[in-house]
Amino acid sequence: MSRFWSDINRVISPYIPGEQPKNEKYIKLNTNENPYPPSPQVVKAIEKVLNDSLRLYPDPTCEDLRLAIAEYYDLKKEQVHVGNGSDELLAFSFLAFFNPNGLPILMPDITYSFYKVYTSLFKINCEKIPLEDDFSIRPELFYKKNGGVVIANPNAPTGMFLPLEDITGILEHNPDQVVIVDEAYIDFGGISAVKLIGDYPNLLVIKTLSKSRSLAGLRVGYALGQKELIEGIDRIKNSINSYTLDRLALAGANAAIKDDAYFQEVRRRIIMTRERVSNTMGEIGFKVLPSKANFIFVTHPLIPAGELFQKLRENGVLVRYFKEPRIDNFLRVSIGSDQEMDSFISILKSILHQML
Ligand SMILES: *Cc1c(COP(=O)(O)O)cnc(C)c1O
Repeated sequence: MSRFWSDINRVISPYIPGEQPKNEKYIKLNTNENPYPPSPQVVKAIEKVLNDSLRLYPDPTCEDLRLAIAEYYDLKKEQVHVGNGSDELLAFSFLAFFNPNGLPILMPDITYSFYKVYTSLFKINCEKIPLEDDFSIRPELFYKKNGGVVIANPNAPTGMFLPLEDITGILEHNPDQVVIVDEAYIDFGGISAVKLIGDYPNLLVIKTLSKSRSLAGLRVGYALGQKELIEGIDRIKNSINSYTLDRLALAGANAAIKDDAYFQEVRRRIIMTRERVSNTMGEIGFKVLPSKANFIFVTHPLIPAGELFQKLRENGVLVRYFKEPRIDNFLRVSIGSDQEMDSFISILKSILHQML
């Protein structure tokens, strides 16, 4: 606490990102990064623009990248906003569509913890809607007066997918509010709400290249929605920073979107590994929530998750543990390569052997 901090700075509780160790001695299954490299086309495209053009500002409208994304999803470029990671787009969207000190926005009680951070930063009231005991979302609980809705689908950190008809129900019952659907993990087996955009002017879908396109280090996300929503985000962006994406990111992201064959292969592999690991974890006594993400959320009936987290860490495996109500006996495990997951399972088995 410093006397120089603004009033708002004194009361916010910033997000705490997962650990990024400097050396590579860990099997890193804690931040849902993709174990496979980005498309080779991405590196080539970045190398091509790695020259004196860096002298110049990048295209503030990000036209080429927006066109590539629009084409990929069969939308118009006016329906696409691109930004410096989806976290930043979420922040812009909260500013663009949710009022400070107004009706509360609704979000599940267990979800991506950054949403809560933005509400405290922007003084947006927030009501947490409890998930069912099995951690599923009950859409009817979102059918009430509110200042907006934000849902991660698949949800984080549970990995559970909400069927599109439930998203549709939430959209239908909130025609005057913006419903943000954060699809950071949708490419790992869920069904995207993008096809609903034409029918629902209140739908904003947010996606990222960080997970399924192996580009967490490039910081590129995008928002899809009808033109008036996209214009709303543009206005906020241009009131904070007109150049959120640099020349290298624009070039790399464009190449990533265009290399569909590579993308399909990578996500197929992750899904296969996830299914295999989920089965094995079940066999060795874990309860595994049904996941459509590139991570699984697991609990063991006999070993406290906090202790298991520590033991794994001592044995060179990083996973994520959230010391929060309802989920403090769960671990979130990112899906790595087959080799990494085999090592993880064998380390886990030896820990279980010691502890049971
Ligand atoms: C990883 C993640 C993001 C952030 O993605 P970036 O594009 O890397 O900022 C957003 N939402 C959820 C639910 C995530 O898990």
